[in-house]
Amino acid sequence: MRVVRTVTELRAELACARAQRGTIGLVPTMGALHEGHLSLIRSAFEQCETVVVSLFVNPSQFNEHSDLERYPRSEARDARLAARAGADLLFAPSAQEVYPGGFATSVEVLGGLTEKLEARSRGSEHFRGVTTVVTKLLCMALPDVAYFGQKDAQQLLVIKRLVADLNLPVRIEARPTVRDHDGLALSSRNALLSARERARALALPAALEAARESARRGERRAEALLAAARTTMEGRGVEPEYVALVEPETLNEVPTLEQTALLLLAARVGEVRLIDNSFIEPAPAPNISQLQSREAVAQCNA
Ligand code: AMP
Repeated sequence: MRVVRTVTELRAELACARAQRGTIGLVPTMGALHEGHLSLIRSAFEQCETVVVSLFVNPSQFNEHSDLERYPRSEARDARLAARAGADLLFAPSAQEVYPGGFATSVEVLGGLTEKLEARSRGSEHFRGVTTVVTKLLCMALPDVAYFGQKDAQQLLVIKRLVADLNLPVRIEARPTVRDHDGLALSSRNALLSARERARALALPAALEAARESARRGERRAEALLAAARTTMEGRGVEPEYVALVEPETLNEVPTLEQTALLLLAARVGEVRLIDNSFIEPAPAPNISQLQSREAVAQCNA
């Protein structure tokens, strides 16, 4: 695996792959790689002839300076892991390479998708930072396919919107959230949690499971499902920043769980802000004979 730091070097390396008509896969990351990132790299390796992993901690998407300052950085380790997972190129540009003096352009997805949930907590500049850097990375590498995680569900939808609206010639592939053995969604920020905080962070997957369990038992009212998630978090000493039950493509809130919905949540554990999400299915409606036998039991008990 080669490490390149400039767009010129990246393009020179990719020219050969492109000339041979092989497909190019891009996995954008901010580094501190974990199994979630590696699952994206492995997918790219399975589907593409050349795999580029970008490693850039993008200052413009951080709304808190302290979050940017303490974001974990480990390039040498990342390079080893990316190579082992199948990357051919690690593109690790400097901030100066991405945002040279005089840089004055931003790319923004407007409307509902970038106004709710994460945007409420992190400000509209967060998604503007994401869409600007992703557009730049796509233009720099010109991949056929780019891989993103469902872990950042809202970001994934925003990027799909961006690519569709600008007719960018790239296919966006989503991959499921990879979790630790105890259910905590892998995140580079988990490294910043103390042992006690990490235990408390399990409130997030537990809240998702509580809502799913309630749905399995037949609950369909959003209010009740959200309450199940919220109470579980609070019971474990974590104050939710938001908990929302939404339609998976628009992120519009749903009042009742009629079909597959997305449950999203965010919370701070100590100084570390964590997000998680899960699809949630309504329990199948009981069939006639189940209803009849329930009625019979009810009559019997009466
Ligand atoms: P990041 O380095 O946090 O910007 O993430 C880079 C990519 O990895 C994004 O597309 C994330 O959605 C994805 N990702 C982060 N965590 C996970 C995870 N636990 N499982 C799957 N993908 C993830």
